[in-house]
Amino acid sequence: MPHQIVVVGGGPAGTAAAAWLARHGYDVALLEKGGADRDKVCGDAILPDTVNALDEIGVWPEIRPHLYGIKSLRAYSPGGYSTDIGGRIYTCKRAVFDAALRRACAGQGVAVVHGAEVVAIDRAADKIVLTARMPDGETRRYETAFCIVATGASPKAIELFTGGKAPKPSAFAVRRYVSFPRPHGIDHLKIWYSKEASPGYAWAFPMSDTELNVGAGVFADANGEMRKNVNAIFREFFANNREMKALLADATAETRLAGSPIRASLRGCERVFDRMLLCGEAIGSTYAMSGEGIGKAMETGIIAARRVDAAFAAGDLSSRGLAAYADDLERGLRAKFDNYERGQKWMRFGFVLDILARVASSDARVRSILEDMLEEKKDPTEIFSFRGIVRRLLLRV
Ligand SMILES: Cc1cc2nc3c(=O)[nH]c(=O)nc-3n(C[C@H](O)[C@H](O)[C@H](O)COP(=O)(O)OP(=O)(O)OC[C@H]3O[C@@H](n4cnc5c(N)ncnc54)[C@H](O)[C@@H]3O)c2cc1C
Repeated sequence: MPHQIVVVGGGPAGTAAAAWLARHGYDVALLEKGGADRDKVCGDAILPDTVNALDEIGVWPEIRPHLYGIKSLRAYSPGGYSTDIGGRIYTCKRAVFDAALRRACAGQGVAVVHGAEVVAIDRAADKIVLTARMPDGETRRYETAFCIVATGASPKAIELFTGGKAPKPSAFAVRRYVSFPRPHGIDHLKIWYSKEASPGYAWAFPMSDTELNVGAGVFADANGEMRKNVNAIFREFFANNREMKALLADATAETRLAGSPIRASLRGCERVFDRMLLCGEAIGSTYAMSGEGIGKAMETGIIAARRVDAAFAAGDLSSRGLAAYADDLERGLRAKFDNYERGQKWMRFGFVLDILARVASSDARVRSILEDMLEEKKDPTEIFSFRGIVRRLLLRV
């Protein structure tokens, strides 16, 4: 049966777009290639922008019971200094989080189809026809007036829908779950921008009082190359960091080490086509520096949904009618993405992070700026800029 809108990809971006449109009266189908419990390799940290986005699409009450509350985010600098940043911080395994999002979508009237991998797209003047391969090997056709592509960082899907080559990813990250026979005693997210993790970062995030998500990421250089293998960073970091080495001696690996590319800084492929647009990590919706992307993927999904709504209202679903989507993204998000990218560049100068961690651990005003940055009430350049470093960290004004 034809649907007015088909969203491809049931992660944070796709579910946010689908839920918004269904709430605004559209007939929406959501095609997800995975099963109902599909897992996504992630650090599983749910930060304030995600909470805001969940609220905006009206699903916070359904998602909240699945979240594990976290006291703070503790960031470690290369010299081993650390600072705690408080805020609305949670974790949730993505297999649980994404499944709950898709259930919430279904509750809002979205026709959610699991196990439907879109493998072909045919464009006609008045419609788009998608072919999905189902788990039993059969194929199904989905006709629609409009398609929203929210397939994440996978190059295969980007290439299928855009017809062009997917750009190189901005980073690559790996994670595994480990469990403990007794409480691990960690009540905060740990993230290390330390020498041991260089040229990347490592993390340990509590999923419950007896389980951690441990992982590492490596940023690509300006040519899109990773200078070091991320598995090696993971192995070396967790073998050498004294605190983690002692803690993990007691742990059992629950899953294998799994990895995924990260597309950041709102850079990448084309976003708008006739009767189709892309959102989420497919268009680089993850932050540089932190690798944080769930909330931002949802935000791009909501921005996409609003633009599609406006295009339907104007009766123009052509790429020209959708062109303002690029402006919506740039206006709404560009400054934040650029600032995180700037922050990542400053991280090359480890001494800046050392000074920041030392000052923040003793200066409540600097800590409060970091907390406002996490809540996105303050711009990261308050600190991550030449002016910010001089004013906030050296002069302390
Ligand atoms: C190791 C790692 C750690 C991270 N840690 C964090 C973190 O702690 N906090 C945070 O906020 N962000 C984190 N991120 C980033 C975050 O995972 C992404 O930004 C986010 O998942 C992007 O959401 P999305 O909806 O765009 O894509 P995805 O979450 O990747 O969802 C895309 C969906 O599309 C489906 N799909 C793909 N192709 C097809 C197809 N052809 N047909 C049908 N369905 C298809 C996929 O199965 C998937 O469900 C991390 C990333 C990595 C790799």
